[in-house]
Amino acid sequence: MTYRPLAAALTLFAAGLGGCAPAPEEAPPAQPAPAEEAAPAPTVNVAEIADGVYRFAYNNHRSLFIVTDEGVLATDPQSTEAAERYVEEIRRITDAPIEYLVYSHYHNDHASGGDVFGEDVTVVSHENVVGHLGEAGMEDVRPPDETFEDALTLTIGDVEVELTHLGHSETDSNLILHVPSRRLAFVVDTYLVGELPWRNMATGDLDGWITALETIAGYDVDQIVPGHGDMVGTGNDARALIEYLETLKAAVAERMADGQSLEEIQGSLALPDYADWVRYDEHFALNIEGVHRELSE
Ligand SMILES: [Zn+2]
Repeated sequence: MTYRPLAAALTLFAAGLGGCAPAPEEAPPAQPAPAEEAAPAPTVNVAEIADGVYRFAYNNHRSLFIVTDEGVLATDPQSTEAAERYVEEIRRITDAPIEYLVYSHYHNDHASGGDVFGEDVTVVSHENVVGHLGEAGMEDVRPPDETFEDALTLTIGDVEVELTHLGHSETDSNLILHVPSRRLAFVVDTYLVGELPWRNMATGDLDGWITALETIAGYDVDQIVPGHGDMVGTGNDARALIEYLETLKAAVAERMADGQSLEEIQGSLALPDYADWVRYDEHFALNIEGVHRELSE
């Protein structure tokens, strides 16, 4: 599968809430668009990645939905604009009721827009999402109807879906959604395929994140679907991300022990093994900042 490059997503994030109005022009190729430019028309793709399991891609955000004859389980509405398209795409495939809407974590660029799914859907999330609802930017995040602490199994038609909290990783609320019968899992932001963590990992816990990736790598599945990027990965991608985070942590710690400032470390440290990962140029210095912050605490 190929997708248009990620320019749209940059504008989306720069817009803060992830809500960018469709513009009449196509997205420009390859080059990140400056924030002040008009938002490009969204790039949308729906792909069936396992029997009855679909990935909905809207610009650089990905959600997973599961279709059975009896009902649909959807994840991450993303934004009001994305959710309107998302429901349209589900309705192209099935008339079955959308029973569940599961939040992968609380961040508003994934969890906003749930109202579009209507009154009958049950919104499910980890319980820590609730504590973030009053924060800035969370206005369009519909409160969950059902929460859990450690794990919850939902049944949609004849498909069992296991939700398991990953501890404090990219946020305190990220879960892994596991569909054993399809040998597939879905994890947003804590897990990425050949891509650096977002910016300075502001809401993350580095050691908890590594532990969560070890948990993810331990799942006996064929596919692990991330919330960003063009690729679907496996446990090997979780292990690669662990290696990246541990390498980065050790390198930053060593330079801090030598008395280097954050700016000095950002100016001198490079990890060329990861230079071909998505967002290396854009986020590596910010990743250093995040690790430095954690090691300073
Ligand atoms: Zn994200």
